[in-house]
Amino acid sequence: MLVGMTIDANLLKECCDAHGVSGHEGEVRNVFRRVLGRMGEVATAGAGNIVCERAGAWPRVMLAAHMDEIGFLVQSVGEDGFLSIVPIGGWWNHTLLSQKVVVKTRSGRKVRGVIGSKPPHFLPENQRNSVLPIEALFVDVGAASADEVAELGIALGDPVAPGVELEAFDMPHRWVGKAFDNRAGFYAMLEVMRGLEGCELPNTLIAAGTVQEEVGTRGARTVGELAEMDCAIVLEGPPADDTPGFAGSGRQGVLGKGAQVRMYDPTAIMNPALVELVRRTAEENGIPFQMTVRRSGGTDAGALQFVGPGVPCVVIGVPTRYIHAHHGVLDDRDLQAVIDLTMALVKKLDAAAVVSLTDYESLDA
Ligand SMILES: [Zn+2]
Repeated sequence: MLVGMTIDANLLKECCDAHGVSGHEGEVRNVFRRVLGRMGEVATAGAGNIVCERAGAWPRVMLAAHMDEIGFLVQSVGEDGFLSIVPIGGWWNHTLLSQKVVVKTRSGRKVRGVIGSKPPHFLPENQRNSVLPIEALFVDVGAASADEVAELGIALGDPVAPGVELEAFDMPHRWVGKAFDNRAGFYAMLEVMRGLEGCELPNTLIAAGTVQEEVGTRGARTVGELAEMDCAIVLEGPPADDTPGFAGSGRQGVLGKGAQVRMYDPTAIMNPALVELVRRTAEENGIPFQMTVRRSGGTDAGALQFVGPGVPCVVIGVPTRYIHAHHGVLDDRDLQAVIDLTMALVKKLDAAAVVSLTDYESLDA
């Protein structure tokens, strides 16, 4: 049994451990259905996005969390039983070697493997100290031939995810697991919906689980067709910058310091009035937060901002160490801060508040 604070550790584990490489998000969609099914009308379409709409007044407020994680697909199967893999999403090759993975076959079977390479003993001097390209790596599932791989049910195109399960660190509040980008944001979205169940809201609230964010916000580009929204809150698991090597004063994502409110990254300039509303809401409610301006990266906000006539967006995230690797580390107090802040914000987004976000006559006066 996992022990958290107010965190539902079992649900968090279910979210993080789900096998959901971009384009293969079915297990995460099922968690969405199970948890949110009773809360509103659930629909899926086209790309695989899933939404749950809670009937209510105008405006239409969207919570968006991408369901996919970075991973691999089986690219080819060698005669000797080793699998070549193609990366899905932004891996950093430093982190790949010797990591456990799980191949999910078409029948749903999960086959364990490990990422291997030729050992340094057999590499020329110049290659020993450089990072091996993905083409030089392979997945070893223990098979000795292509026939044995086929007997396991593995075929070309099968998704491969990190073979990592969520665990509590010995220090309170700290967790290690895979796919916090973005199952932390996804979990927060489920908890916000659960937390607001039965609560009267001044809006129509839509929870959206989007697909294929990690390969270029592909799901978010189409989710507006399912749920024409007037405003979007993107929930994420963005990178922390509090490890050795970062200058103290420039840190904007420190574990335990609260929800990260992203004002900018190269894909989206967040609506300033919405950012201000988030800041005020956090201050009024005593919720810890960290404002962030990022030089790189991007989220679903980059796509959602283009829906219809344009949609005011903001990104609220749980700072996560070592994202885009097999093991991330987060602090569940930040997760709680994201949930609390988002719930408080949703309660404030009534017609007047949402109109004011894009009332440029007044904003410019
Ligand atoms: Zn993400």
